[in-house]
Amino acid sequence: MRCLVSLAVLAACSGSPAASTPPPPTRAQTTAPTKATIVDSHVHLAFYPVADQLAEHGVRAAVDLASPERALGTKYPLLVMQSGPMLTRPGGYPLDSWGKDGYGIGCEDRDCLLDAIDRLHDHGARIIKIALDDNGLPRPLAQFATNRAHQLGLKVAVHALSDASARAAAEIGADVLAHTPLELLAQKTVDAWATPPGKRAVITTLAAFGGSDEAIDNLRRLHEAGVTVLYGTDLGNLRIDGPSQDEIALMRRAGMTTEEITAAMTAVPWKFWGFDEAMQASKTR
Ligand SMILES: [Zn+2]
Repeated sequence: MRCLVSLAVLAACSGSPAASTPPPPTRAQTTAPTKATIVDSHVHLAFYPVADQLAEHGVRAAVDLASPERALGTKYPLLVMQSGPMLTRPGGYPLDSWGKDGYGIGCEDRDCLLDAIDRLHDHGARIIKIALDDNGLPRPLAQFATNRAHQLGLKVAVHALSDASARAAAEIGADVLAHTPLELLAQKTVDAWATPPGKRAVITTLAAFGGSDEAIDNLRRLHEAGVTVLYGTDLGNLRIDGPSQDEIALMRRAGMTTEEITAAMTAVPWKFWGFDEAMQASKTR
């Protein structure tokens, strides 16, 4: 069964297999979106162009965390906040793999980063995404990029799958882990992300990486420590053009209640990313 639109259906989708069959969606469940409808905090709509289907399946807003620059400003049938290309080292991740067609900007010095960040900001990016790990930006440049992004009022998302890079991301002041890290996190890393309390976030993306025990445990511990959890599918890597039941099931395995999962898919990301402010800004432009 595909999960459609409403919170009632979301609850049905995430229930146990023994749950009784939910009633078919009514008109009220498939129209009149409100702030309580679904936000996917990690998509790649240039890589996997299914925006129409997402909107049709009840995803009202999404955060695109890596597209070529040419995709900035694209009009979609749902609200989309964009980062544009990831900042990385020359030839680094993701230019060395799936993102070679413009999904990264390779920089080896501050001037290049300054140029790139200011240009992305001018073209409508509201988030800067930084690749860390071994094949991303070296830490001093990642620090510089984070500072510049914050000066411009942009949030900083990091690709950091290892414990060391997740720790570095916290220490340079990044706002959000683009993925639940895959390597088991040291408690110090978890604590670093929970400081200051409630300010920083992790995007789940468990299903796209196979839902390993380590990743599930990381999400559980980050959540328990007070890190804000945002539902995200890494759409493009995961090929589901609507809410992902697999992601919901894995969030549940990480100890989240139905209410917490619902919040992580709706009001919490809406507020964290500032969709109200973004809508307001687009009206006055
Ligand atoms: Zn991604």
